[in-house]
Amino acid sequence: MSADPNITTTPPKLMRAIREAMAGTESVQERLDRFVAAISSAMKLDVASIYLLRPGADLELSATEGLKKSAVHKTRMKPGEGLVGHVALTARPLNLADAPSHPLFSYRPETGEDPYNSFLGVPILRGGRTLGVLVVQSKAARIFNEAEVEDMLTVAMVLAEIIIDDERVGGKKGKLKGITLAPVKPETVQGKAFAPGLISGHAYLHVPPVPPANLLAENIAVEEARLEDGIAKLRASVDAMVKGETAGISRASKEIYETYRMFAYDRKWVGRLREAVHSGLTSEAAVERVRNEHRARLMKSRDPYLRARLHDLEDLANRLIRALSGEALGPGNKDISEDAIIFAREIGPAELLDYDRKRLKGIVLEEGSASSHTAIICRALEIPLVGRADGVLDLIETGDEVLLDGEEGAVHIRPVDSVISGFNLRMNIRGEMTRAYEALKFQPAVTLDGQHIALQLNAGLIVDLPQLEQSGADGIGLFRTEFQFMVSEFMPKLKEQTDLYRQAIHAAGTKPVTFRTLDLGGDKILPYMDPQPEENPAIGWRAIRIALDRPGLMRYQLRALVAAGAGRHLRVMFPMVATVDELIQARQLFNVEVERASKLGHELPAKIEVGVMLETPSLAWQVNAVCDHADFVSVGANDLMQFFFAADRDNARVSDRYDPLHPASLSILKFIAAGCHRNNTPVSICGSIAGRPLEALCLVALGYDSLSMPVTGIGPVKAALLKLDAGKLRDVIDPLIKVDSRMSSLRGVISEFCAENGIPA
Ligand code: PEP
Ligand code: MG
Repeated sequence: MSADPNITTTPPKLMRAIREAMAGTESVQERLDRFVAAISSAMKLDVASIYLLRPGADLELSATEGLKKSAVHKTRMKPGEGLVGHVALTARPLNLADAPSHPLFSYRPETGEDPYNSFLGVPILRGGRTLGVLVVQSKAARIFNEAEVEDMLTVAMVLAEIIIDDERVGGKKGKLKGITLAPVKPETVQGKAFAPGLISGHAYLHVPPVPPANLLAENIAVEEARLEDGIAKLRASVDAMVKGETAGISRASKEIYETYRMFAYDRKWVGRLREAVHSGLTSEAAVERVRNEHRARLMKSRDPYLRARLHDLEDLANRLIRALSGEALGPGNKDISEDAIIFAREIGPAELLDYDRKRLKGIVLEEGSASSHTAIICRALEIPLVGRADGVLDLIETGDEVLLDGEEGAVHIRPVDSVISGFNLRMNIRGEMTRAYEALKFQPAVTLDGQHIALQLNAGLIVDLPQLEQSGADGIGLFRTEFQFMVSEFMPKLKEQTDLYRQAIHAAGTKPVTFRTLDLGGDKILPYMDPQPEENPAIGWRAIRIALDRPGLMRYQLRALVAAGAGRHLRVMFPMVATVDELIQARQLFNVEVERASKLGHELPAKIEVGVMLETPSLAWQVNAVCDHADFVSVGANDLMQFFFAADRDNARVSDRYDPLHPASLSILKFIAAGCHRNNTPVSICGSIAGRPLEALCLVALGYDSLSMPVTGIGPVKAALLKLDAGKLRDVIDPLIKVDSRMSSLRGVISEFCAENGIPA
């Protein structure tokens, strides 16, 4: 702390007035009235007004000092309408010397605002969401100075917390004439299921709001010292992370923390925090205010890079708030209830691992994506995750009861009894099934007619590896190597790649591991690579296309794979191959790396198999030639189906338009399997259909004897296969998938077959 004599130690007059206005125990309305009176008298202004947003509707004048009181709860406007509406829409302050001449000015005679020229409106923000607008006006035509704008932002923040907190604790909502800002009703929000499972629990807001009682500083000098202390602790914790002192995944991807460190030492960020504390806020409130401003601004940005930076900053702000509260910043240290469901806009892997694993039951995100590292970790740790739950943070408060449906992607908040009982029933069934699958763990998947089916796992990170043993899977049929690249902030080094591949091979013991080379591009963007905007990324410059055009990266990876396979069985395959020539070229690159290792005298793998993923329809029509050059074929059904039906798998509007059990898709899948068998080339299938019992039964009937799937599929698929007579099902399917088929799906027929034959699918 500096001993600068100019530093104020007592809060400014406005803050004192606000503190006094807050002290009473009146209803929300009375508090708002006191608030506007305090602002107009402390700032010596003619008018101070609060406009609040009625959920999903208009802004309503809810308190005023200076305008006609008769207009309160009468004057309304839409977001975007008039100056007040403009502030709400843009979430930015608007500062005008001559408001009536502004093109957006809309005159409301009932308020009597004619004589006022200058106008300052600031958004009332909570989280990144706008609750309303705080406005001051005066007759004198002048621009408000920076300090005044700063003060108003501070006051607006205090206001937001008071309004929400009053509503939450106290049954006084009626006083605000129907404006309810805190959520109370039962709600169901539909998002996307990114990690499966059903769970009931209580909400925990990842970023808890600062309680109103702790918003305003008693003594600014003391508060400044606290802030400095918090920043020092934060920096120490981030430094420790970078040095790799933190356990678990953080060691593998410590580069992520390098970015945090950059922010933790960022002068601008720290400068804004200091200013906010200097204006009279507590340190926690200052962090929140600076974060709200960043959010409101960056959330409007469509630039993925900027949005990613916002998440890094949020992560850091959360850590700072926790450092200020004196909480230790180690993994598993967060104090949450026994059945916590975490709600956040976005959450990073490090933050996720900060929660006590035993208490953390589920996660709900407003953003997130199926391929994010958080989603991948949740699937590995079997924590249900629903993402893209748009607007869910507006509807939830810590402690609310929640049912999280990681199967359907739904979040039921404060559910009614009928929803609870239906959900409980499904949870019980699921629990019984899990126990039944557990009992099958050591049993091989053999059909009634004696076919042995290999059930393998899809994996990609160290956290996935223990699942091999837990599930009793027969190996890793698809190791998505790009995941390691996606969870790192910088390109993984050769040694890091080699270490990961070696660990996977060792974890599998005598079971096979099939590594897929980098499948980048499309939606798999690396934070450290310049994204190349493309019209159609799914059919753009991705995967093997990048690898062949710029072989450096893949050669590096192949080098790591050859090194990791020393003395062991190494299986490698290439993604997104569309012509046999591409496969031949990729194999050549692989051979160069084997020769290089041999020349350098390195130990080589004891056995090498090089295969190809069949994910493009064109490759199906070259199946004989493919088999000439591939030791095995793995059908990537996710991509094959997206290209076959020309329906983007990541676009919810089109991804469900077709059924993978359409006779056309079953027919091409059969054609591929038959082609591979004819050439004596082993064929397997990965992609999500392999992990769904009904689909898996069909695949086996079509000739696939090796299926690779997410861990959650192993039990259900095995249970179904044990009851299957594959020949019998083949006889049902074959006549229905000829070219003259008029059906749009075989789902009904197969379900009936299962019901008749006692197959649990
Ligand atoms: C596939 O396309 O089916 C596949 C397994 O690969 P990914 O889902 O990683 O594209
Ligand atoms: Mg694919």
